[in-house]
Amino acid sequence: MDREGQELFKAALGIVHEFLATSQDRQNKVVDFKQPAELLALMDLSLRQEGATNAEVLELCTKALHYSVHTAHPRMFNTLFSGIDMVGLSGTLMTSAANTSVYTYEMAPVFNLMEKEVLQTMRELIGWSAGSGIFSPGGSVSNMYGLMAARYRRFPDSKTKGCAHLPQLKIFTSCQAHYSVDKVAILMGLGTDNVVKVKCDHMYWAQQVRLCWQHLIPLDKMADICQAHNVWLHVDGSYGGSCLMSKTHRHLCKGIEKADSVAWNPHKGLHVPFQCSAFLTRHEDILRSMLSLRASYLFQKDKLLYDVSLDTGDMSLQCGRVNDAFKIWLMWKKNGLAWAGREIDRQLGLANYLRDRIRERDGFELVVQDQQYTNVCFWYTPPCLRGVAESDDRKQRLNKVAPKLKAGMVLAGSMMICYQPLGDLPNFMRMVTVSTSATEDDMEFILNELERIGACIQV
Ligand SMILES: *Cc1c(COP(=O)(O)O)cnc(C)c1O
Repeated sequence: MDREGQELFKAALGIVHEFLATSQDRQNKVVDFKQPAELLALMDLSLRQEGATNAEVLELCTKALHYSVHTAHPRMFNTLFSGIDMVGLSGTLMTSAANTSVYTYEMAPVFNLMEKEVLQTMRELIGWSAGSGIFSPGGSVSNMYGLMAARYRRFPDSKTKGCAHLPQLKIFTSCQAHYSVDKVAILMGLGTDNVVKVKCDHMYWAQQVRLCWQHLIPLDKMADICQAHNVWLHVDGSYGGSCLMSKTHRHLCKGIEKADSVAWNPHKGLHVPFQCSAFLTRHEDILRSMLSLRASYLFQKDKLLYDVSLDTGDMSLQCGRVNDAFKIWLMWKKNGLAWAGREIDRQLGLANYLRDRIRERDGFELVVQDQQYTNVCFWYTPPCLRGVAESDDRKQRLNKVAPKLKAGMVLAGSMMICYQPLGDLPNFMRMVTVSTSATEDDMEFILNELERIGACIQV
């Protein structure tokens, strides 16, 4: 390794240490927001024929991290992942250092076995004694595997003959399903018009805001209906799947063992560094038979050293594939599986705590009285709207509050929380308690800070 490169790496580790310490300190900002033109003035992003010195590059690295969103900050709640897990980060570092592709046992002997162990553990948590699975680049892609498998199971010759001769296929899902279901319909050539969005009433919508499952009736019952009609049931547990780890809350997933396939993102509630998503199915051979092409330069059938069924690349949509298994394996090895369950319980406790504070506080109103999982949706009503009677006008004014609160918190850098409208419900705050480090005090902070920003809002 060249000396300058070595020195750069050492210094980079120092910068990372400093960045994480800074990010985790509540005294510091979640984000130091700058407009694009300001950022371009602060950092020389241009690429030139000649290289830069270590000092120049390290300064740019420091700035790059500084002006990024500090997702490890205890008051970062904008996404369904938040905080940093040092065991997981160690795994990520080693994954990058090993820098291999997990398509064959030959290129990733240890990681291949780790992936197998993690996927098997996940299947057992679902309640399947057999099956198959693969780590994919996110929940959207895991959903895609599920819907592709559904089609392949019914029409296996679509692999070779294509789909022109098939009857018009339909996907049934909830009107509140993640938009990736539509993306899959585009990709598979079904078209978004053939995604049937089953309606649900308002309060139910609200309850399901990006919640656990795409079900309108209990999953358990849905599974029975699907079985009776020979319909493939794919459960999008990208967010909610992690509650399977909790002994006290896994009942929320009752019936999941009857599904044909499941998408589950441990990079959300389980704090595995972004990204880590598994596609799991109880059908043992379907992935391989659906996707295997036996590329002769990777998956030679006459390999002499090992059982080629370990070459998982032949059942993946990808060729080269990032090793997403090491970091989750390391976290579960170090912390134990029971830790993950306790962590989910802690996050649910925090969500319940926030819900209770909102209930008793003037100016705050829950969208759903009893949320099921770690998302608490609520409106904040600024003083200028208090006492104004319900009307379309009030609703339109309330709709403008959340974007103002959001702009206020980002400019102050004090916290980040998402907002959204839902059907004809006006914009509300969509708070998710998945953070590694947020506490009850942070929940109080959130409400106080919204009140502080909201005090002078005019709509
Ligand atoms: C996050 C999420 C997805 C998408 O997962 P990505 O990893 O972002 O592609 C899909 N469905 C649900 C329910 C999710 O919460």
